[in-house]
Amino acid sequence: MKEHELFDVIIIGGGPAGLFSAFYSGLREMKTKIIEYQPKLGGKMHVYPDKMIWDVGGVTPIPVGELIERVVKQGLTFQPEVVLNEKVTAIHKNETDIFVIDTASGQKHFTKMIILAVGGGILNPTTLDVKHADKYSDKTLHYSVKSLRHFKNKTVLISGGGNAAIDWALELEPIAKKVYVSYRKDTFKGHEAQVTELLNSSITCCFHTSITRLNGNITDGVIKSVELTDLSTNTVTELTVDDVIINHGYEREAKLLKNSDLDIRLKEDFFIDGNALSESNIAGLYAAGDILKYDGKVHLIVGAFQDAVNAVNRAKQFIEKEAEEFPMVSSHNELLKERSMELMKQINE
Ligand SMILES: Cc1cc2nc3c(=O)[nH]c(=O)nc-3n(C[C@H](O)[C@H](O)[C@H](O)COP(=O)(O)OP(=O)(O)OC[C@H]3O[C@@H](n4cnc5c(N)ncnc54)[C@H](O)[C@@H]3O)c2cc1C
Repeated sequence: MKEHELFDVIIIGGGPAGLFSAFYSGLREMKTKIIEYQPKLGGKMHVYPDKMIWDVGGVTPIPVGELIERVVKQGLTFQPEVVLNEKVTAIHKNETDIFVIDTASGQKHFTKMIILAVGGGILNPTTLDVKHADKYSDKTLHYSVKSLRHFKNKTVLISGGGNAAIDWALELEPIAKKVYVSYRKDTFKGHEAQVTELLNSSITCCFHTSITRLNGNITDGVIKSVELTDLSTNTVTELTVDDVIINHGYEREAKLLKNSDLDIRLKEDFFIDGNALSESNIAGLYAAGDILKYDGKVHLIVGAFQDAVNAVNRAKQFIEKEAEEFPMVSSHNELLKERSMELMKQINE
C-alpha cells in the first residue's frame, strides 16, 4: 500500500453489498479499495455456507459456498485493492475535504468517497453461558454450521427459536440421526411457513427450556449429554447428544460510526438513516446492504446488490458532475466487451 494514496472510492466491508459495489465501481472506472475485517471476503454468507440459496434473481438453487465464490470473483473483476484482516475504527474528513479512514492497526486510508457496507457490524455470536462451554466450543459446541456433513448420523440439540435455529433444524433433519430444538419461550419467532414445517417434522421441540449444563470430556471437547431445565417447573432432563448448536443471536460491535466525528444520521442507534439512492446525510458518504435503512428497503442479498448500484452511481456523479446519472449497462464497458468476446469465442470453439 502506498502511503497517502488517494482512492476515488473506499468500500468498508467485503460482504455481498461491498463486493457488488466494487464490481460496479470498477465498471464506472473509479479507483477502488475494499477494507474487510475478516481474513476472507464474502461477509455474513460465511455463517451459512452449506445452506441452499433460492432467492437470488437468475441464480438457480446453489449452496451458499458456491455463491460466495461467484460474488467474490465478480467483485474482483476490475482488480480493486483489497485489504483484509483490518478493522475500520473511525472515519473523518481532513482540512482538504478528503475522507480519512482509521484502522485498528494504525493505518490511515484516504478517499474522495466512502461506501459503507458493514452489514450488521462485526458480529460475535452470543455465547452459551454455562460452565466449561468454552472448552467444547468449535468441537462439539457450535455457533454456526460450517459443514452439514459433520452432523451426519449425529444426535443434535439446537438452542434458539429464531429463523437461524429453525433453518438449521430443518436442514439437519434429513442428515442427522435425531434433531432436538430447545427454546426458552412457548412459540417460535421464525417465519410462519418454516415454523409450521418444523412443528410437522420429526424434530422434537422442547419449549420453555434452557441448557443449564454440558456433560462430557472437557479435555477432548466432547459433549456426551446436556441438562435441559424446564423454566416453569425447574425440572431437569438429561438428553444424550453428540453436538449442540447455539443460535442465540449476535452481539454486534458497533463503535465505528460512534467513534467517527462526522455527524452521521442513524436509525435505531446503529443503521444509516439513508434513502433509496443509498445516500446518507453526509456528502460523499454512501451506504449499501444491511447497514442501510430507508422506506421500502429489501433486507436480502438482492436488496444489497441494488443498493450497491445506486451508491456507485451517486458516487460517480459526486466526483464527476457531468457523468451519466443512470446506470450504464455492462456491455458498454470496453474491458467487459473484450472479455465477452473471449468468452463467446470459447463457447463457440
Ligand atoms: C443464517 C442466515 C441466513 C440467511 N439467508 C439468506 C437467504 O437465504 N437469502 C438472502 O437474500 N439473504 C439471506 N441472509 C441475509 C444476507 O446474508 C444478508 O442480507 C447479506 O449478507 C447482507 O450483506 P452486506 O454486505 O450488507 O453485509 P454482510 O454480509 O454482513 O457483510 C458485511 C461485512 O463488513 C465487515 N465489517 C463490519 N464492520 C467492519 C469494520 N469496522 N471494518 C471492516 N470490515 C467490517 C464484516 O466483517 C462483513 O464481512 C441470511 C442471513 C443469515 C444470518
